[in-house]
Amino acid sequence: MLKILFVLCFSSCAYRGNPKIKLPEGETHLTISVGRVHKSCLDKFGGKFLTLLDLGMKEGMKCIKQINGEGSKKNRLLLEKLFSSKAITFNCNEKDYFKTSNLSAHASIDTTWNKASLDLIHPYVSINPDYVLSDSEVTGEVTDFEFMKVVLFHEYFHNLGFAHSRTVDYAYACEECCFSFNDVKEKACKVCSTNYSSMSDPRYVKDLLDWGRKSSFKKSIGVEYAFRNALFKKPGSAENLKTFLDDLPSSIAVITAKKLKDLAILEHGKSNENYYDSDPFYKIVQRASDAQIELYVRGSLSKAVKIYYEIDEIPFRDRLKSKTVKDIWDDLLYDMDFVLMILKDSKRMTEYNKLEKKYYEIYNLLPKA
Ligand SMILES: [Zn+2]
Repeated sequence: MLKILFVLCFSSCAYRGNPKIKLPEGETHLTISVGRVHKSCLDKFGGKFLTLLDLGMKEGMKCIKQINGEGSKKNRLLLEKLFSSKAITFNCNEKDYFKTSNLSAHASIDTTWNKASLDLIHPYVSINPDYVLSDSEVTGEVTDFEFMKVVLFHEYFHNLGFAHSRTVDYAYACEECCFSFNDVKEKACKVCSTNYSSMSDPRYVKDLLDWGRKSSFKKSIGVEYAFRNALFKKPGSAENLKTFLDDLPSSIAVITAKKLKDLAILEHGKSNENYYDSDPFYKIVQRASDAQIELYVRGSLSKAVKIYYEIDEIPFRDRLKSKTVKDIWDDLLYDMDFVLMILKDSKRMTEYNKLEKKYYEIYNLLPKA
């Protein structure tokens, strides 16, 4: 990759190279064009940090401008507004947060992320104090310096209010679209460029699966959770359900599809049928499918939780080795995991604790990769 040495001049060219920057006595922040930089970043990274901020913004914006689409156009305008608000705070001193996280940085999504004691007021970007900003050290395939530029670009999307799994994931989509050279780049650009009405927009549900499941950020995007969240937010959406059922290879999907058909038949006065025999394993498939219908067709969390509580048959260990059976359990666990997160978010801790116990009971039975 051709690297252009760029020297940034703010008020003067005093930052050439990587000089230490000293703030006047009593000052905690340096004012820059997009906001303010806490002295912790200047102490740790020196003038290099300012170069990095400028490059992250310029290169990211250059890319966003080149992407053709209503979504990227909208986000470009929002980013320009964010930068011209001169409100972003950069901090490199949030030790407690990064003690339990190995992320390179994180950013505020709204004012609920404010930490007044650390002077972190939305919008802010907080960089891991242990990050090494070296031109020679390599993270992935780029130097730590190059990588941090990409990270900053990603964090600005959080400042716009975008969160992983909870909103359309423009942060990872635009990061992968603008800064990667892998074969899912195109799919990432599709998401980055599109203007979705919400994360339950059927176009997003489809594009998310298409991109997210193959993305190198698959885990961080939280594809399974985001996908289920989209369905749950718009229960009964025929288009989203179709994508869901097409995507699930397991018997749960087959049963769910059949039950959905039956629901339609029931409305015309016909009775339900028995899909499988009394094999305990298929009883679980039935339950998992019932829970999916409650969650994604009727949008009833309580009823789904009740169904999970009642799972008491434990499949035979030897059957867990079969891929089909393993897939079914994976799907069931994804659904349960999703429900756990919703319960936690809505602070329904009694149900959460009870269900978590059941979740681990099942999880511990599965062979580990
Ligand atoms: Zn992020």
